[in-house]
Order: sequence, then C-alpha cells, then structure tokens
Amino acid sequence: MMEQVIAGKTSVAAKMRGVWFTFDDGPSPEYTPALLSYLDGYGVKATFFVCGKFAEQYPEIVRLTFTKGHEIGNHTWDHPDLKLSEEPEIIDQLERTNVLIESITGMRPRHFRAPYSSYNKQVIQLAKAVGLDMVGWTRMGMDWEDRAPKNIAECVLEKGISENDIIVLHDGCADILNSFDRILYTKRWSTVSATPLIIDKLNANGIIVHNPGM
Ligand SMILES: [Zn+2]
Repeated sequence: MMEQVIAGKTSVAAKMRGVWFTFDDGPSPEYTPALLSYLDGYGVKATFFVCGKFAEQYPEIVRLTFTKGHEIGNHTWDHPDLKLSEEPEIIDQLERTNVLIESITGMRPRHFRAPYSSYNKQVIQLAKAVGLDMVGWTRMGMDWEDRAPKNIAECVLEKGISENDIIVLHDGCADILNSFDRILYTKRWSTVSATPLIIDKLNANGIIVHNPGM
C-alpha cells in the first residue's frame, strides 16, 4: 500500500550522514536475502523496518539481516493505520514488535516507521515512550506497483539526491496483512534489482551512504 504522506526530515534524519537506505514491510524469505547479497557486495548498511507478524514467521531472516550489520527497525506488528488506532492498540503494536525483535536479535530497536506514513503527535509520543524515534523518508521508489527496476531507480534518484535523503523501498508486502480490497502488487524482484542501480549511481556521484549502525 502506498505510503501517502512525505514525512520529511526528523530529528533522527538531522543527525545522519549520507543517504539512508531503508526497506519496509519485510522480512521476506525470498526478497530479503537477495537484497542482503547486493548490499553486502557493496558494503552498504541499511535499516529494515520489519512487521512483527512477518518477523515472527521468519525469525531466521531477521537474524541474518542483523548479523550482517544492518539495523532492524519497528514497522508495527501488522501494519495498521496508527492515526485511526486507540492508545492501547498503538502501544501494543509497537511494544509487541519491540519484544519480538529483541528476542531475535538481542537488541531493542531504536527506530520506528509509521505504516502509510500515517501518524500524529500521539503516535510520536507513544513511540518515544517505548524507546522508539520515528523515522520519515524523503525518496520512494513507488515499488508497490509493477515497475521495472530502472523506473524504481529513476523515481528514487530524480531531481538529484543528496546526503540528507532517506530512501524507502519495500522488501515485503504488508497489504496481505490487511483486508484491503485491492492488493497492488506483491512481488519485489524489481526492488531487489533496482537497489544496485541506485547504489551505482550514488557511488558514481561520490555520495556517501549512511550506516545506521554508526
Ligand atoms: Zn509499510
């Protein structure tokens, strides 16, 4: 499902250095390992905002991602619209996922991304209360649609990209967790193939890639 609102820079983003790669809606047993191979090849570290429900299903993929030096972020348990959720539900979505991630990696997540970029002050404050800083994004690949890798890369890179940008791509499909009438597109091979195209372009332009572990 489309992340509709550009959340823009956050206090977290202000502290970062370099373009920040983030992947939402995983883990996926198919796409996440393929992506990790590319990222490893380039020595690029990213943040994977996982859904608790998928992480529970594929803990070994989360562990693999973490042991390769990537950050595991919290993308709620099953991807609700938090702006439409009551306080106990919001806390449960975040904390349940925190506990699961910590049980898999041994590390409590520090960062959270709101599904659909749908949030308000209450969401930010409740996240903070369970130890999570919210992270927005500034570049997206529209990869929830059936697009060629080149198109995804162009979408991310158009109008120039700078070291303050946060890229969001998707290594899973959270739509299947909800009862949407229309699931746009579930495959993510184009995202996997677009990632090296984007990194090549950044490297060619001497743009540093952020390491979320730093
Ligand atoms: Zn999402």
